[in-house]
Amino acid sequence: MTFELSERVQTVPPSGIRRFFEIAEERDDVISLGVGEPDFSTPWAARDAAITSLEQGKTSYTANRGMRELRESIADYVADRFELGYDPDEEIIVTAGASEAVDLAFRAFVDPGDTVAIAQPAYISYEPGVIFAGGEVLSVPTTEEDDFRLTVEGLEQAGADEADMLVLCYPNNPTGAIMTEADLEPIAEFAREHDLLVLSDEIYAELTYDGNEHVSIATLEGMRERTIVFNGFSKAHAMTGLRLGYALGPAEAINAMNKIHQYTMLSAPTTAQHAALEALDSCENDVEAMVNEYDRRRQFVLSRFREIGMDVFEAKGAFYCFPEVPEGFTAEEFAEGILREQGVAVVPGDVFGEGGSGHLRVSYATGLDDLREALARIEAFVEDHT
Ligand code: PMP
Repeated sequence: MTFELSERVQTVPPSGIRRFFEIAEERDDVISLGVGEPDFSTPWAARDAAITSLEQGKTSYTANRGMRELRESIADYVADRFELGYDPDEEIIVTAGASEAVDLAFRAFVDPGDTVAIAQPAYISYEPGVIFAGGEVLSVPTTEEDDFRLTVEGLEQAGADEADMLVLCYPNNPTGAIMTEADLEPIAEFAREHDLLVLSDEIYAELTYDGNEHVSIATLEGMRERTIVFNGFSKAHAMTGLRLGYALGPAEAINAMNKIHQYTMLSAPTTAQHAALEALDSCENDVEAMVNEYDRRRQFVLSRFREIGMDVFEAKGAFYCFPEVPEGFTAEEFAEGILREQGVAVVPGDVFGEGGSGHLRVSYATGLDDLREALARIEAFVEDHT
């Protein structure tokens, strides 16, 4: 039979990154700076807690919203680290990765025809998520001149005052941009004035460098009631494959998300919940060590790009930097060129939406030795072609 695919599925184009992976697979000497996941293993104590939970036969479903103990622990953690106050019973839901939490939010709050403004360049899953939920995407480009921070001018120019929701992600994937409290204030004011629901993906919150502290937009005046915060264990705790994240928000919103979650997921992976509990309980030092190492790599990569003569803005968060490609290349041509000629995989910025063209996303979630070699190869490519 032929499958009559839903319009929603047909509307979403295939991932722009796939072609690069296909080229990368053709050779065996590729250094990949293309991936968005930590090269570190999950801290041992968290893995051990997962193993112990399995030995004890803890393999049943948990409460739909996640183990109460874990929700309490998350409530304490976000209060300590980010001054966020949420009730573990009603205002926190534990999900299969932050990805599930973001998807639940789109499905819980987007009606057909609703407009979701997305600050771009942005993580590639938001746009398909909005389309799958029947909504329409409004791109709000950010620019290098603004250090890829979202501005009220950008929101106004894009017509975001008419939108129903705004998606932000700081520290940002793919640019590594962060937003300070002073940067967020006018955005919060805009959201209040135009009655926007804010979906704030803060999965890179721990990965903030240069003495900056992550500030959640939900902590600004009048924002808690209109913001859903997403976070998880994939990045800071190096737990991508364990699939564990969470959302924080007012009870009414979290209840609506839980209504979908309880029918579609039932509960987040139990073993991962045990690992997460331990991660919050005893892995602070591991997180700090990983963050320090990312910071070292960040400084190395930024300084090497500058030596090579490529413009790169000072990324202050996540584990990406976002250099400009030299004149005469599109980002895609440059990315394909260094992959074919030098065996270095990076992702062209266009993949991440408006504002991304002419740039490359370079992940430094890779050891320093590989980073050194990759940057030497990029330098050779630039020397050969400019
Ligand atoms: N948000 C952003 C900005 C990300 O970069 C990623 C992972 N690449 C996710 C969410 C998904 O995280 P998780 O593994 O928790 O689903």
